[in-house]
Amino acid sequence: MTPTTSRNAAHADLIIENAYVVTLDSGRPVIVDGSVAVVGETITAVGPAREISAQFPQAAARIDASGCLVMPGLIDAHTHLFQVLGRGLGDGLELMAWLRQFMLPLATHMTTTDAEAAVRLSALLAVQAGTTAVVDNHYAPTDTDTILAVAQAIEDVGLRGAVARGTFGPRTVGSDRMGVPDELHCYPSTTELEITAECLGERPSGSRVEIWPMPENISYVDLDLIAQCAVLADEQDLRWQAHCSEALAEVVIFEEVYGERPVAWLDRAGLLGPRTTLAHAIWLDDAEIEAMGAARACGLHQPVCNQVVSSGVMPMRELLDAGATVALGTDGLAVSGQSMFEAMKSAYAMHRLSRMDATWPPAETLLELVCGHGARVLGRHVGVIETGALADLVVIDMSTPRFQPAHRPVAMLALIGHGADVRDVVIGGELVVRDGRSTLVDHDEVMAKAGEAAERVADAAGLHPLRTAWTQR
Ligand SMILES: [Zn+2]
Repeated sequence: MTPTTSRNAAHADLIIENAYVVTLDSGRPVIVDGSVAVVGETITAVGPAREISAQFPQAAARIDASGCLVMPGLIDAHTHLFQVLGRGLGDGLELMAWLRQFMLPLATHMTTTDAEAAVRLSALLAVQAGTTAVVDNHYAPTDTDTILAVAQAIEDVGLRGAVARGTFGPRTVGSDRMGVPDELHCYPSTTELEITAECLGERPSGSRVEIWPMPENISYVDLDLIAQCAVLADEQDLRWQAHCSEALAEVVIFEEVYGERPVAWLDRAGLLGPRTTLAHAIWLDDAEIEAMGAARACGLHQPVCNQVVSSGVMPMRELLDAGATVALGTDGLAVSGQSMFEAMKSAYAMHRLSRMDATWPPAETLLELVCGHGARVLGRHVGVIETGALADLVVIDMSTPRFQPAHRPVAMLALIGHGADVRDVVIGGELVVRDGRSTLVDHDEVMAKAGEAAERVADAAGLHPLRTAWTQR
């Protein structure tokens, strides 16, 4: 076996060596004793450890990963980092009550400073748990300064990804029916598009953290505004995101108002394509699944959130069979952790139970969804360890009791993988987590600032009644 390498590479900036390398490269998915060489922000060679060390006798830095597994960084394709400030408060509420009594008041009482403090804490949690890219739907608040501050907070901990700017536009019948507060419908459509364009001016396509348009929900955002967001994404070489068909009630509302189903409308309006990334996509009929597959559109699966708020089971296998992309997300700390290992385990168990089939999905499929499909959502060359890919890499300690005996490391990642086992994280060739701690931000300071913001927002939003020590039912 020879290492795959770019021509004439003799110098490496970083070598991660002597690891069990899970490349997710279909030609050679696993290298039992392997090394990865990095130049700049890119992987320049991957192969057996002996061959890589012979090829690169000198390297500016080396990480000894003996006893460790190295895999591509995990991609969280849909989350809400600001929601960390309301952790636990919405427990026990069904989805609509959860939105009206908890999440929307929380979102509408945040300042730029609160949002920045919250996002920095969540982003820190994410990267410590092996996530190297996030798509963060931010809707609290959505002015230019806040969106850019949130993007910077994500970048401060070293992550890449996008801030999907929450866009509400004018009130609609759907927003009345879903009880969306006026405070979120604070800009007319033209202003929404202007703010997004202004943010894009600062962080255009290709930025470490991009800005994406995000009409917040297909069921309550003005249809013309949704279409304009999709056109903007197309013009600017970006993806766009929207919540779609998460709760059955959303589909019922859309059908009553417009006479057709949400994804059927997207298809008819010519808005389904690889740039279309739909969070949840649970309540789809067969024609909608077919349409998403034919368009190579992306469904974003948040299994922990879907179970916690009992919204339903995504038709994941049907979407994959139809040809759609299906990436996984956490959907924010108000309902789940910020760990993609939790999302993988949750999807693993959820779909086996719902299908009464212990053979599907296999662990390998879940890794492909989190990495390869996540990369398609991002539109970046990540999610695989191969020459030319961006060096977004995670080193997982397999010497802990959790991983021993390590009969099948790949299956174990999906079954018992845990963010606490993540030792080192490299993003774009930079070591951003070493021995479980960020090399870029001070943990205590990040936690203290987020704690102050949480108190202030809970006061302002009147969330103290939700702070019960024990709920007797
Ligand atoms: Zn969401």
